Amino acid sequence: MSSIIQKASPERIAEIRESLAEIRSRSRRGFFLETFSRTLVAVSKYKPSADILACYEDGQRDFGENYVQELVDKAKELPLEIQWHFIGTLQSNKAKLLASIPNCTQSKRCPPEKAANALNKALPANRTVPLNVLIQINTSGEDAKSGLPPLSLSPSIPSSSPSELHKLAKHIITSCPKLRLHGLMTIGALELSLSASEMEKNADFERLKETRDALQGWLQTEFGSQTDVEDKSWRWGDDNTGKLVLSMGMSSDFEAALKAGSDIVRVGTGIFGSRKTREEVKATS
Ligand SMILES: *Cc1c(COP(=O)(O)O)cnc(C)c1O
Repeated sequence: MSSIIQKASPERIAEIRESLAEIRSRSRRGFFLETFSRTLVAVSKYKPSADILACYEDGQRDFGENYVQELVDKAKELPLEIQWHFIGTLQSNKAKLLASIPNCTQSKRCPPEKAANALNKALPANRTVPLNVLIQINTSGEDAKSGLPPLSLSPSIPSSSPSELHKLAKHIITSCPKLRLHGLMTIGALELSLSASEMEKNADFERLKETRDALQGWLQTEFGSQTDVEDKSWRWGDDNTGKLVLSMGMSSDFEAALKAGSDIVRVGTGIFGSRKTREEVKATS
């Protein structure tokens, strides 16, 4: 640690711990967060390092940030044991900066090929493990959301006409040896997560799952089944299973997401409380 972080006030520390405990217990309730090695990412964008430290001292290790510079600044002053998840859209001109963080395990929302190439190139040659990347899928089809269109299981796409997603996945696997295609992520439509009742299925989550299954099947046809690989040196997917993972679920819908099979949930407000908007942050800096 290069600088000493001022600790949060005792009241703030107590508040964060209480929220974190609640999110953890709600995640575990029936969904076995820990048993199935699912990951809770505490999204700390716009929140001070002191807040992150309070969570860290309570045992939380995975944190998510949306902006490369903010992540770099925080990573410098916070413990190396933290696993940083970059969950913003990566621009290729920021790839070098992101690649310089040794304890960044995941870059979410892997963007088009250009940024993937830039990230692959910028990662140090002596890196022993590949950087996990997830491709963002626009499951709700909203214009304001970035991401590639989802796939459907049927009719199956002939390998002669691969979609953008097929092409990007293949590109990462064949041309970016320092990256590992870990899985897919989505930011669903808020209305869907608020309206979906206990019984109803959330359409965004179902679409991401279907896209994952379709892509997984296609990759197996393209590259052969990974289950034949003995030493688990899979070419994509999770270290343990070789399957593409799903990152879906935020403060408003993480329980439903876990129930739907999410491997990674990203919770910000639920842990740290409400935050400023990007515009408000810009106006004050
Ligand atoms: C901000 C953010 C989150 C956390 O959202 P909350 O609603 O505060 O839980 C999750 N994922 C992404 C990609 C985000 O940008």
